[in-house]
Order: sequence, then C-alpha cells, then structure tokens
Amino acid sequence: MSTLESRVRDAFRSSYRGTPRLFRAPGRVNLIGEHTDYNDGFVLPLAIERATWVAAAPRADHVVEVTSLGLGQTVRFDLDAPWDSSRPSWSRYVEGVARVLEAGGVRLRGANLVLTSDVPYGAGLSSSASLEMATGLALLSLSGLPVDGVRLALAGQRAEHDYVGTRCGIMDQYVSALAREGHALLIDCRSLEATPVPLALDRHALVVLDSGVKHTHASSGYNARRSDSERGVALLREVLPEVRALRDVTPDMLEAHASRLPELVLRRCRHVVGEDARTLAAVEALRAGELERVGRLMYESHVSLRDDYEVSCPELDALVEAARSVPGVLGARMTGGGFGGCTVNLVAQEAVDTLIAHTAEHYQRTFGRAPGVLVTRASAGAAELP
Ligand code: ADP
Ligand code: MG
Repeated sequence: MSTLESRVRDAFRSSYRGTPRLFRAPGRVNLIGEHTDYNDGFVLPLAIERATWVAAAPRADHVVEVTSLGLGQTVRFDLDAPWDSSRPSWSRYVEGVARVLEAGGVRLRGANLVLTSDVPYGAGLSSSASLEMATGLALLSLSGLPVDGVRLALAGQRAEHDYVGTRCGIMDQYVSALAREGHALLIDCRSLEATPVPLALDRHALVVLDSGVKHTHASSGYNARRSDSERGVALLREVLPEVRALRDVTPDMLEAHASRLPELVLRRCRHVVGEDARTLAAVEALRAGELERVGRLMYESHVSLRDDYEVSCPELDALVEAARSVPGVLGARMTGGGFGGCTVNLVAQEAVDTLIAHTAEHYQRTFGRAPGVLVTRASAGAAELP
C-alpha cells in the first residue's frame, strides 16, 4: 500500500466512523501541444506517478465535508445552500465540481472526504485537475452514479472557469481522468476524442525538472493569451469565414494573411498553429520509434513558447538550455501553462544522472537553489482503489 493511501485511510478513521472507499487521480505532464487545448487543437499529455488520494464515505445529508491533509484544513459546504465565495479558495475546486455535476442533472449524496496529494501545487503538473478528478470520481461513485470520464473532465474544467476563475482548456482534467498506463494521450480538444499513443521508453526516461517558480494562471497572463488567440481568430474570420478556431488554420494560411494581424497577435497565432502541427508530427514520430525527432520537436516547441507566445521565464529557459548541452538528452521544453513550473526532458536512460547533476549545478549557480526532480513513467488515470 502506498504511503499516501494509508495516510488518508488512517486520517479518515481518526475523524469518522466506518470504512472509507479510496480513490486516486494523477497529475500530468504534457509532452507537447501547449496552449493548443483552448484553441480546439491537439495535446499529448501523460499522467505522472504523482496523484491526489481521497478516502471517502457517504453521509445521510447533502453536506460535503472535505479535509486537505496537506493544508491541514477542513471545509464544509451544503449543496442545498447557495454558493458562498468566502470559503478557502482550495475548496472551490471540490465544491465547484460537485455543483457543476449537480447542475448537469445528477443528485449527489453528501460525503466526508479526506485527501492528500504529492503533486506539487502550482508547479504546472496539474494538482488542481487531479484534485477535481479524484473528488469528482469519489462523489459520483459514493452516489452510485455511473462515471463517464469525459463528462467528469468537462465538469472539472467548468468548475475552474466558474468557481476558480481560470479559463483552462480540457487537457488537464481529460488526461487525469482517462490516461492509460504506459501511454501518452493524443487528445483532439474539439471532438474530445483521445487516442492512446504507446510510449516505448525502455531505453529512455522522462525527467521533469521543477523550477520552483509558482505560477498563478488566472493572474499571470494565461487568460490574456486566450484572448490574444480569440482576437486572431476574429480577425482571420473576416477573410476566412470557415475558421472557427486556430485549429482550422494551417501555417501557410496564417502567413498568407499575416498582414491582417497586429504583430503581437500574429506571433501568438504562429505559436498555436505551429504547435498543433508539431504535436501531430510528434505522434507520428513516436509511432515510428523516432525519438530523436520527438526531441527536436520538443525543443522547437520551447522556442516558440518562449519567443512567440511569451509564456516562459528565465528559470525555465535556463533549465532547457542546460539540458540541451548534455549528450543523450533528446529534447526539453517547458510544460504546462508557463510563467514558471516545470520542464519535461526526453533522455537516454544512461544520461539521466548526468542531466540531473548538470542542470542542478547550473541552476544552483544561476538562481541559488536546486530544481525539483521527478523521473516518471506514464501512469493510469483516475480510479477507485481495490
Ligand atoms: P497546478 O494545477 O498547476 O498545480 P493551479 O494553480 O491550477 O496549479 O492549482 C493549484 C491549487 O490547487 C492550489 O493552490 C490549491 O488551491 C489547489 N490544490 C491542489 N491540490 C490540493 C490539495 N491536495 N489540497 C488542497 N488544495 C489543493
Ligand atoms: Mg491547475
């Protein structure tokens, strides 16, 4: 039994009677396809081996009492009472999912939930989606309701929009709910169909390096980037009425109409349109076993996020540059929304130690601290534990 599993079980038993059921939902890292999800495009994330764990049991009333062991806080909300925005902000993710599910027509039972997580908060590994998917799955399951992973993911996304104020795309919740072990998920964010793509990484590893810089999506430009993309679409539609989202624009189409867009909007669009193409190319390369090509696409993605989309930061750039100089590192890029958070590195197995030592030394020298390190395989999506 994992430590976190026994931790939530023990904490539950010390507060409540009865035997809880246990649920787990992972965080994620995105291999490639950044800021494409809210543009109806393609993403290629995988679930990491870090997760939110929930011990849960139903109540007779319509109240949810949720304890975060990490924060040492307990919050109660009554689903029959109106939404009260004065409760601690972390509980909005939980209450938001519950309320969105109920607004979608289901009736949940009240529940006692005790949770903990080893996904770092605000590091771009989606602790928020893992929290939403773990608690949403718990609430549906305790209520005896069927769980549709895509609908649960959509409820998590809506909760972030309406209760947290982050206009996130669907990627984080989708992969947390529906990932397959040993695979990345190619998600078509328009049709909401996903294709598992095998990650044949017997001789390679995925290394996540955490810059330790905390982003806050809502306040740090994420929503502004979304608006830039929407502005690009609006201007392109004046001449290309069939365009519904940047997903419908090829790099050639964009360059043909470049003069219609303000320079800043053009660069934003260039990133999104190029990133969709890179993501599909990376899937092809993975299927063909061409990991060097995947790595090159990752480097290109980083440059585009840094220069055109401007969502990187000096710390992330330093981690990518340090990785680039290590033989055996095939690719590196910032991952997640940006403005801090992590890089993801595709590395030959024998180069993992050198990568970690070299980047740590370089980062320490430049920024006075060591990056966090996570070597991860692709894990499975949200599930109840036996
Ligand atoms: P990310 O999803 O990249 O980690 P976000 O800013 O989207 O970053 O979400 C982080 C927030 O999610 C935290 O600040 C906290 O409010 C909430 N959160 C995540 N996990 C937990 C947890 N185990 N307990 C309480 N709050 C959590
Ligand atoms: Mg998040």
